[in-house]
Amino acid sequence: MHEFKYRGNELYCEDVGISTIAASVGTPFYLYSYKTLLDHYDKLRDAFSSVRPLICFSVKSNSNLAVLRALVKSGAGLDIVSGGELYRARHVGADPKKIVYAGVGKRRDEIADAIRAGILLFNIESKEELEEIQRVAASLRKRVNVALRINPDVVPHTHAYVATGKGGSKFGLDFETVYGIFASRKRYPDLNIRGVHIHIGSQILDAAPFEKAIKKVLAFIKSRRISVDYFNIGGGLGIIYSMEHPQTARSFAGRILPLLKRSGLKIILEPGRFISGNSGVLVTKVLYNKTTPRKRFVIVDGGMSDLIRPSLYEAHHNIVPVITDREAGRHPQKVDVVGPICESGDFLARDRLLPPVERGDLLAVMGAGAYGFTMSSNYNSRPRPAEVMVIKGKFYVVRERESYSDLVRGEKIPKELR
Ligand SMILES: *Cc1c(COP(=O)(O)O)cnc(C)c1O
Repeated sequence: MHEFKYRGNELYCEDVGISTIAASVGTPFYLYSYKTLLDHYDKLRDAFSSVRPLICFSVKSNSNLAVLRALVKSGAGLDIVSGGELYRARHVGADPKKIVYAGVGKRRDEIADAIRAGILLFNIESKEELEEIQRVAASLRKRVNVALRINPDVVPHTHAYVATGKGGSKFGLDFETVYGIFASRKRYPDLNIRGVHIHIGSQILDAAPFEKAIKKVLAFIKSRRISVDYFNIGGGLGIIYSMEHPQTARSFAGRILPLLKRSGLKIILEPGRFISGNSGVLVTKVLYNKTTPRKRFVIVDGGMSDLIRPSLYEAHHNIVPVITDREAGRHPQKVDVVGPICESGDFLARDRLLPPVERGDLLAVMGAGAYGFTMSSNYNSRPRPAEVMVIKGKFYVVRERESYSDLVRGEKIPKELR
């Protein structure tokens, strides 16, 4: 469910008409619904309430400070993957005891910062990383809590680029290596190995692969007599982009809660997309229509530099007109919705049935709240779009549109070239 609905012939975000916002901030822009964000967080928290999990929102899915602040204020922790995300987490006043830190390539300075901040757990992705954290912990004279990220070797049905929990992926440790680490834990005198972690992929629509991975990990812990406090079951819950039928938070919880309860472990969840995905849209304006002998194109002012998911993951995003009044009696046409970037891979939709549009019409690209702005770039020297949030009937620019001077910030022409 989300709060982007038509009232009369206009698409609204909560109680605010989207064309009003566009008139004020220009296009393209990301638009987030505060209410939707919190609703999704609440749904997950309520579904899992019987184990009182720590829900760490995945910062990489949407790292806007207002989004993070909204969730932190409601009690969420944060799942970070870099020093930059730690910086953001601290900026919004996140409780360090609710921060978990994953990622295969943590640098020494990032590790030191996170130790000094007093985060809850590092999720370890390799033996050398564990050794590095031991060295940093020793030099800072701190005891550091870690969890081992296990690659449980299960195959979720999702796009290959977002499957992270099968053999051959760069993420996590195989069971034997994990066992070896527990067996030699004395070699890490400044680390408490307090948990195990899995994150098997993203946009996973049913509970089966989660169930399988969780069972594998719990059986492993039991058979090898491994004692830990935390079980972080990762994120990856799928959402509706168009015709998907993902499990609800409640049905997901129904399937895996019995396993989790029996384990007696403290549970951590790391949802990203489930919370932020349908809480945001990308609003873009039609620049031109173009008809070629083979195809019709709708050229809009938002492209792959703003939203790369269609190009990168072949992701489907519904695209709808913000104003629908001219549609009556007009037949939808099959079009490619493309951006202004000089790449053939720059499209938001291909062979999509859309009502006819005219120059200046606004379109909303739905489900763009996760891995939207956070994956945006300045390719083709395009300033990144504004981000806007609707909160209780008002809209706020939560990130200004970049300017041309932002584009060249930090660049220098050496003397020799003057
Ligand atoms: C990206 C990521 C998540 C969030 O994934 P979603 O599919 O957005 O829920 C959770 N945990 C880790 C370790 C991640 O890398």
